[in-house]
Amino acid sequence: MQKPLPFDEQTIRRIAEQYPTPFYLYDEEGMRESCRSLNSAFSWCPGFREYFAVKALPNPYVLEVLKAEGLGADCSSLAELALSEKVGLTGEDLMFTSNNTQVHEYQRAVDLGAIINLDDLTHIDYLKDNVGLPELLCFRYNPGSAREGNVIIGKPEEAKYGFTEAQLFEGYKILRDAGVKRFGLHTMVASNELNGDFFVETARMVFDLAVRIHQQLGIKMEFVNLGGGIGIPYRPEHKPVDLAAVGQGVKKLYEQMIAGTPLDPLKVIMENGRMITGPHGFLVTKAIHHKHIYRDYVGVDACMSNLMRPGMYGAYHHITVLGKENAPHDRIVDVVGSLCENNDKFAINRELPAVERGDLLVIHDAGAHGHAMGFQYNGKLRCAELLVKKDGSVKMIRRAETMDDYFATLDFSGLQSAAGR
Ligand SMILES: *Cc1c(COP(=O)(O)O)cnc(C)c1O
Repeated sequence: MQKPLPFDEQTIRRIAEQYPTPFYLYDEEGMRESCRSLNSAFSWCPGFREYFAVKALPNPYVLEVLKAEGLGADCSSLAELALSEKVGLTGEDLMFTSNNTQVHEYQRAVDLGAIINLDDLTHIDYLKDNVGLPELLCFRYNPGSAREGNVIIGKPEEAKYGFTEAQLFEGYKILRDAGVKRFGLHTMVASNELNGDFFVETARMVFDLAVRIHQQLGIKMEFVNLGGGIGIPYRPEHKPVDLAAVGQGVKKLYEQMIAGTPLDPLKVIMENGRMITGPHGFLVTKAIHHKHIYRDYVGVDACMSNLMRPGMYGAYHHITVLGKENAPHDRIVDVVGSLCENNDKFAINRELPAVERGDLLVIHDAGAHGHAMGFQYNGKLRCAELLVKKDGSVKMIRRAETMDDYFATLDFSGLQSAAGR
């Protein structure tokens, strides 16, 4: 089965003549469409907002595009806060959902006026004593055995994130008594989940909690954050999540559980990364070698340091051999990089057409948790990122690293050997 590309063959070849492979190609218009379908699914909800999980694709040009579509930024580190600030996302455009957080990170989040989402009960005092409590605070709920979770995020029971239910009630009471005025409730129980009902159930869970917290503590929640985790169809036979159906499912619950109660209006928030940019990013790489031993291999000029999802999670990423979409896919190969790590494979036992040296391979669905997870192990350098705009023009939004970048953190002057200098 094939997966369509948003760019035609000639466009990709032309770009590959101008920029050395490997590189990432992002489709701006596709990203905008993803934002619009999510916003439209929740247009019934006044104050709905998607905060893009910056870690999925931390590039200011991408954040600028998403900002123009009305998205905020979900950050979990100082650097992500600083990056978001660079494109003018400040104050409540920022959600700070971190864990195991240090004072200087909280300080920056408070200074920026970000919505702080605490990950643990003990962080209330940690924040209060070191920075001071802001007027608005949110807690992250971990439902434990009440929810199953999924492969990427694991079982909630075994996950390091969030408060238990009992801690939530205790925590909100502490906030209330300390004079905090505005409250949010967050949870994140799945990643790359393709079953839309999962998110409707998450809404049921947090609506129910918001109601009980109101009953017991008199606290009126201002928003609930359903987290990110909407999946994307990595495999050609997968179907994308029906966002409109998710929106309608959550609306129905809202009408049953919230509308007409003192909690109404209650804002619904999400913080997806993958579904916004994932399907709209492609890693373009060139075949450089063949190898035939106990198995057949195609060696490419990208490696796991450019995209580690296959090596790390065994994740499937579809591969199109450019210009051979309709050729018989009658070879079974492993597509591999050059790391001295045997899990440096983009595909295992994949049916592909015969690949020649010089063929361009396009690795799909690499627009989230792709370049962002890059590393320099084995002296491999991160590649460039290119943004293709609606009019077909191409902008390099991050250059490829050079050897100078690799050496930038080293100081050779202390070496004994003269050769080092
Ligand atoms: C990673 C992460 C997200 C985004 O997850 P996706 O699967 O990319 O949607 C959202 N919120 C938090 C707290 C995260 O850690």
